[in-house]
Amino acid sequence: MSAIDRRSFDGVRVTDIGNFGAHRNARPGIPAHFHTGIDIYSWDGTSRFVFPSAPGAVVSVRRDGPFAQVVILHEDETSDPLWTVYEHVAGIRVRVGDRVSPDVPIARLMTSKELDRHGWQFNHLHFEILKRPPRVLRPTSEHPERYLGTYALSCTTEAELNATYHDPVPFLRRRWLEQKPTAAP
Ligand SMILES: [Zn+2]
Repeated sequence: MSAIDRRSFDGVRVTDIGNFGAHRNARPGIPAHFHTGIDIYSWDGTSRFVFPSAPGAVVSVRRDGPFAQVVILHEDETSDPLWTVYEHVAGIRVRVGDRVSPDVPIARLMTSKELDRHGWQFNHLHFEILKRPPRVLRPTSEHPERYLGTYALSCTTEAELNATYHDPVPFLRRRWLEQKPTAAP
C-alpha cells in the first residue's frame, strides 16, 4: 500500500495462509509453530515499496536473499516500546541507526526475477509487531548489521505468541482510529 492509503485498511491483502496466529506444521528442521505476523501482498500488484508503519530507528538489518529483513524500534514517552519487522524484502535503503518515517520507503518487494531465484513462496511482505525485545544476535562478517532476531519460528504455543506479538491488523486499526487526521492550518 502507498503512504497515502495508510489511513485505510482497504488496500491491504493478507495472503490465504498469512493470518496472524495461523498454525504452521512442522517441516524438516523447523518445529510446528504459530505465524507471528501477517503476510501482505502488493495491494494492486504494482505498488512495490515497503514503508515503515510509524516513525522509528533502524536497529537491525539483514540483506541476504529471501530472508532479508529490517527491524525498526518505535519509542515514545506515552507507551511501551514496540519493534516492527519487515521480511522477504529487497533493495533495502536504510542502515542501522537511521531514523525512518512512514512517508519514505525502506525497501521494496522482490521482483519476479528475484522470486524466480529465491522461490515464489516469498512473494509477500512478512510484517510483525513485537511487544517484547527481539533476540540479541552477534553480527557476523556475513551479517554485519544483524543485531537482532525475531521469534518467528519459535512461538509454539498461543500463550507465547500473544506474550510476544501483537496481531498487526487490530493493532493498527486501533492506532489509526486513535490518530484522527489533524486539519490543515
Ligand atoms: Zn509470514
